[in-house]
Amino acid sequence: MKVINILKNQKPSLSFEVFPPKKETSFESVERAVQAIAAIKPAYMSVTYGAGGGTSKYTLEIAKSIKEKYGVETVEHLTCVSSTKEMVRRQIEAIKKSGVENILALRGDIPADMIGLDRSAWAYNHATELIRELKETNPDFCIGAACYPEVHPESRNSKEDILFLKAKVEAGCEFLTTQMFFDNNLLYSFLYKLREAGVTVPVVAGIMPITKANQVERAIKLSGCHMPQRFISLVDRFGNDEDAMKQAGIAYATDQIIDLFANGVSNVHVYSMNKPDVAKKIYSNLSDIIGKSYE
Ligand code: FAD
Repeated sequence: MKVINILKNQKPSLSFEVFPPKKETSFESVERAVQAIAAIKPAYMSVTYGAGGGTSKYTLEIAKSIKEKYGVETVEHLTCVSSTKEMVRRQIEAIKKSGVENILALRGDIPADMIGLDRSAWAYNHATELIRELKETNPDFCIGAACYPEVHPESRNSKEDILFLKAKVEAGCEFLTTQMFFDNNLLYSFLYKLREAGVTVPVVAGIMPITKANQVERAIKLSGCHMPQRFISLVDRFGNDEDAMKQAGIAYATDQIIDLFANGVSNVHVYSMNKPDVAKKIYSNLSDIIGKSYE
């Protein structure tokens, strides 16, 4: 099924992101986590492609198994920036053959040793180019893309960022998933600006439950996101107590999600970091709101 049909439904929905193993030896533990998260029967699951040091080798295998073995719809992430046209085309053909119908089309981060180099001869410089190619060569895929409520770190300002985002939608992107954020007001203001700019596709809110104090620094480094005082106080108070921090982090994420649903955001994607216990807890906290319980 195409994810756009789930998103247009307007009912509160919860989906989860998983990532492939960082080392080949940990494939089995990732597979177990994926299976346990799929058992919750979320609206859909997405599988990252080489993000945060993960390998891309297993992305498709995992995405395919989520759909085929566990009966949950999947989105395969696909990055293009350090790839040749041939590499990207091969991956697109493999995705088509696997039966996966949804692609989150991304540029990907510029590799550290290539920042500042002349990229004019690269096959892909921006996600728009990948989206356009997908739409022209394989119009049957449902294509999504990333967006940044707090502005992408490389952008000069939010106006420019939204103009480039609009170009992604015009190239054929049917839905957007946001970068993580910890202050819902930032999302509401971003949504207002998007609608003003004429971007009307569904926007899926990305929520990261922080369950360990050391995740905070990494989250800020990865996304440049703002941490509200309410969240900082929670980390200060519970950061040294593993169980308490986990409980508080899950409660904070749950509270954020309830506020989003209450304010008309229908679809939330949880960056569940391959942690089935966290995914299950959040899902069961919201079971009456989404009208589904997994037990
Ligand atoms: P783009 O849309 O190309 O934007 C990148 C920058 O270029 C922005 O500043 C934008 O404003 C600007 N820009 C866009 N078009 C133009 C143009 N035509 N001319 C000039 N400037 C332009 N990374 C991974 O490696 N693997 C993953 O699986 C992964 N999944 C992600 C999922 C989500 C929901 C999100 C939010 C991010 C994910 N990332 C992933 C990280 C992502 O790859 C990085 O944030 C990357 O730096 C930007 O990718 P993009 O597709 O948003 O790029």
